[in-house]
Amino acid sequence: MKLYIVATPLGNLQDLSPRALGVFQKVKFLLCEDTRKTRKLFSAYQISAPRLISYHQHSNPQKVKEIIQLLKKGEDLALVSDAGTPGISDPGNKLISLALKEINNLEVVPIPGPCALIAALSVAGFPSDRFLFYGFLPRKKGRKKILQEIKESSWTIVFYESGYRIKKTLEELEEIEMEKDLVVARELTKKFESIYRGSIKEVQPLLKGKNLKGEFTVVINNQ
Ligand code: SAM
Repeated sequence: MKLYIVATPLGNLQDLSPRALGVFQKVKFLLCEDTRKTRKLFSAYQISAPRLISYHQHSNPQKVKEIIQLLKKGEDLALVSDAGTPGISDPGNKLISLALKEINNLEVVPIPGPCALIAALSVAGFPSDRFLFYGFLPRKKGRKKILQEIKESSWTIVFYESGYRIKKTLEELEEIEMEKDLVVARELTKKFESIYRGSIKEVQPLLKGKNLKGEFTVVINNQ
């Protein structure tokens, strides 16, 4: 039995790989974070979806047990998240680790594709041989320490941020005098894709007065 970990588009539907489509047509069950979002994806491709099973980071142990039972019965399953690569600041890792513990001959198969952190890093033009990915920064506890760590690091840094918090996060980095160059990548692959580059002082005016809805990935050049 196989558990396919399938990347889906961040926005642009053309980014779904033919291999991913092949897996969707092959498996009977598809684990997804939000069944409505996944159904929309399938209707955009005008293909019928496998049976959808909701699975997210807070799925209860009974749900996880049921999923593992399906695999034990020999079913092949696929896992998707709302967008991008499962397991990258998205559900996946807990299920994979439990399933591997319980099923000896389980094959976990990557079907790679879109991932915001890699997309942002790939256009940043910063060294990428060593980088630190923070996922989402903590909102409260430990935040100051991590911002300081980011400032002092000698590695390229990548983190995820929401449109609601991006200005505030840049302000906080400015307050601690983080003077490195950065890339703020907004809505990659979508209609309002924008890539802002420069020091914090240069990027802040570019964001000023803009409606900053949407999804952001920040890359900092520390090398
Ligand atoms: N697993 C996903 C991946 O592979 O990119 C990331 C999931 S995480 C819950 C969602 C965050 O990723 C967003 O809040 C944003 O910070 C970042 N993100 C997702 N899509 C993005 C996009 N199109 N452009 C920039 N950042 C994006």
